[in-house]
Amino acid sequence: IKLITISLLLLSSCNQDSSTLSKEDEFVSDLLGKMTLTEKIGQLNQHTSHWEMTGPAPKNNESQYRLEQIKNGDVGSMLNVTGAEATRKTQQLAVENSRLGIPLLFAYDVIHGYQTMFPIPLAEASSWDPEIVKLSAQVAAKEASAAGLHWTFAPMMDVGRDARWGRVMEGCGEDPYLASVLSVARVEGFQGDNLSNTNTIAACAKHFAGYAFSEAGRDYNTVDIGSYTLHNIVLPPFKAVAEAGVATFMNSFNIINGRPATANPYLQRELLKGKWNYEGFVVSDWGSIEEIEIHGAAHDLKEASSLSINAGSDMDMESNGYIQYLKELVEEGKVDEKLIDDATKRILKIKYQLGLFDDPYQYANQEREQKEIYTKENREIARKVAHHSMVLLKNEGQLLPLSKSLKSIAIIGPLADSKDIPLGSWRAKAIKNSAVSLLEGLTNALPQTKINYAKGCNLTSGDRSFQAELSFNENDQSDFPEAIKVAKQSEVVIMAIGEDCFQTGEGRSQTDITLKGEQMELFKAIYQVNKNIVVVLMNGRPLAIPELSNMAPAILETWFAGSEAGNAIADILLGDYNPSGKLTISFPKSVGQCPIYYNHMNTGRPTSTNNVFWSHYTDSPNTPLYPFGYGLSYTTFSYGKATINSNELKKNESIEVKLSLSNTGSYEGEEIVQLYIQDPKAKYARPVKELKAFQKIKLKPGENTEVSFLLKSEDLGYYSPEGEFLIESGEYHIYIGENSQNVQQINISLLE
Ligand code: BGC
Repeated sequence: IKLITISLLLLSSCNQDSSTLSKEDEFVSDLLGKMTLTEKIGQLNQHTSHWEMTGPAPKNNESQYRLEQIKNGDVGSMLNVTGAEATRKTQQLAVENSRLGIPLLFAYDVIHGYQTMFPIPLAEASSWDPEIVKLSAQVAAKEASAAGLHWTFAPMMDVGRDARWGRVMEGCGEDPYLASVLSVARVEGFQGDNLSNTNTIAACAKHFAGYAFSEAGRDYNTVDIGSYTLHNIVLPPFKAVAEAGVATFMNSFNIINGRPATANPYLQRELLKGKWNYEGFVVSDWGSIEEIEIHGAAHDLKEASSLSINAGSDMDMESNGYIQYLKELVEEGKVDEKLIDDATKRILKIKYQLGLFDDPYQYANQEREQKEIYTKENREIARKVAHHSMVLLKNEGQLLPLSKSLKSIAIIGPLADSKDIPLGSWRAKAIKNSAVSLLEGLTNALPQTKINYAKGCNLTSGDRSFQAELSFNENDQSDFPEAIKVAKQSEVVIMAIGEDCFQTGEGRSQTDITLKGEQMELFKAIYQVNKNIVVVLMNGRPLAIPELSNMAPAILETWFAGSEAGNAIADILLGDYNPSGKLTISFPKSVGQCPIYYNHMNTGRPTSTNNVFWSHYTDSPNTPLYPFGYGLSYTTFSYGKATINSNELKKNESIEVKLSLSNTGSYEGEEIVQLYIQDPKAKYARPVKELKAFQKIKLKPGENTEVSFLLKSEDLGYYSPEGEFLIESGEYHIYIGENSQNVQQINISLLE
C-alpha cells in the first residue's frame, strides 16, 4: 500500500518548468487532503541529528526515538544532517517508511560557504557589490546542495549597530538599504532562478525581527525598540527579500513590544503573511517556542505552542512543542485546524518547488559531492570575493602596496600563521586549519624575499568561559624579544593582529572591543625599532583602536577572509589587487560610544558656536574612528561638482543627479560613490543621513567618467511608527560622496 501511495504521489507530481503554480497548488491540496492531523503536524516539526546517520545503529534511546519519529512521518525537516550518504539514508527512513512517504527537508547553517569558506558576511558586505555577494552564495549553494542539503538558514539581515554584539559578523552592517540590496543578492545567489535546480538551495531570511537590538549588545538580551525604528531600520531588508521571493523566514529569540517574536502575531501574520502577502513558511529559531515560557510570556510549552502557531510560526525547530501539543490544542478548540493546514501547505510547497516530490534523493548525489566541493575553481572565487571584502583603513606615505623586490620582511603577530581563524565562525563544514595563512600567502608570493616570522604574543581565546582550558598565558611577553629582533632585521613589518574568530558569532558578545592581550604592547615595542609597519587586522566586528590607528602608518582590515585569506591579503599588500572595500559599520573610538551609527537622528540640542555638540561626552568626541562608507584605495579619485536636472521633483517622478569622477592616481581602482538623503523638516524626526543609492565604478589611471543616479520620489519616503509609508513634500538634502561624512550637498524640493 505504501509503495502504491508513493507512486501515486510521484505520478501526480510534475516537472517544475514554467508557470506551474496551479499544478503546485493542486498537488499540495491533493496531498493535504490525504493527510491526517497527526501527519500534518509532523511536517511542522524540525529536529537536529543526534547521531551520525552514516554510522552504526543509534545506541541511546533518544536517537532511537528520533529514528522512529522520522519513520512515522512525525518529522518534516532535519537540520545538521549533512553529506550525500547521510542525507540519502535519512531521507530513505521517511520516504520508505512513513505512510505518505513525504520527503524531509535538510537544513543547515551555510552562512559564508559550505566547505570552501568565503569571507564572513560583514566582510562581503564591505564590497558593496551585489554581484560579488551573489557569487559567493551561488558557490555555497552549489557545494551545500552537492552534500544533500536543500535549505540554508541564511542570509541574516539584522541591521547591526552595536559592535559588542557578536553576530554583527553575520550581517551587512548598520544600513537598512545596503542590507536590503545585499540580502536580495544573497537570496538570488542561494536560490537561483528556480528552486528545483539541484545546485541551488532555499534561503531563509533571519531573524524576524529586532534581534540585533539586544540591549548592551549582549546576545539573547531584551530588545526594546520603538515601532518607528522597527519599520524604518529593522524591517526594510526583510520586506525586500520577501518581495524577491525568499523561500523561508526564521523568527527570532527576542521580545518585541513585550511579546517574543516567535509568538508575535503582528510581525508574522499581520505584516509578513498579511500586508506583504508572503507565501513561504516561517521556521522558529532554535528552541524559541520553548523560550517563550522562559521569557515569561506563556505558562508552559503547550501555551507557547498555541501562541506560536496562532502568531504564524509554521515550523518548530527543536522545541518539541508542536509535536507534543498541537493535536491536543486542535481537539480542545484552542487552535484552528485551518492554521495547521496553512502551515503544512506552505512547507509542502517549498518541498514541491525543490523538486523533492519528483525525486526525494536528487540532491544526495555522491558523485557531485566528490567533484563539486572545495574545488580549485571555488577557492579561486573565494579569493576574488576576499579581494573585494577588504578595507584599506590607512596608508600614510603610500607604504602600500609593497614592492615585490623587498629583500626582507618581518611577519609578526598571533594571527600571522593561523590557518584556522581566517575561516571565521559559522564555518559549516570547513576543514580545520584549511585556510591559507598570511604567512603562507606572503611566502608564496615573495619567493625572493627573506621572510622573518615571529609570533610575538598569544591571542586571547574566543570565549572567557573557556578560560580554564587555556594552555597558555595571554599576558606572556616572552616572545617579544624575538619579534623585536626580526623587526629590526627587516625592511617592512607586517603585523597580523585582531581577535579570535570565536570572539564573534552567536553567543559571543564582548564588553571590551579593543585589541586584547598583549597585542597593542607588542605593536608599540615593534614600532620603536621599525616604523614601517603594515597592520593586517583580522576581526569580525568593529574594533576600538584609536591609538593603533594613530600610530600605524598602514592598516588593512581583512576581517575573517575565508579559505584563501592569506593569498588574497598578499594580493592586496603587493598591489595585485587594489583595495576597494568600504566599511558598512562604524568603527567606534571606544566601546562607550556603542551603539554608534551614521544614520542617527538629530538631537534637540543644537551645535554650539565652536562646533561642539551640546549632546556630547565629556571624555570623547561623538564621531567614530572610521565612519560608515569609509575605505581607501591605492589610487585617488576626484569628485566633480554634482549637478541635478531639476531642483524640483514631482511625486511619482524622478530626477537625475550627475557628477564626474576621475581616477587621479597611478593605479587602476574601484570607487564606491554613495548617495544619501536627509529630510531636514518632516512630520517625524528623520536621520541626519540615509543611504539611498551607490555605485561601484572602475577606472584606469587618468580615466574619468560621468556617474549618474536616478532618484525617485519614493526614495524620499519613510514609515510612520504605525507602518504607514509617507512621502512628504518639502525640502530635501542630497549628499554625494566617498563616505557618509565626506560629501557634497544639493538641495531639492519635493512638490505637492
Ligand atoms: C541561531 C540561528 C541558527 C539556528 C540553527 C540558532 O541558535 O540563532 O541563526 O540558524 O540556531 O543552527
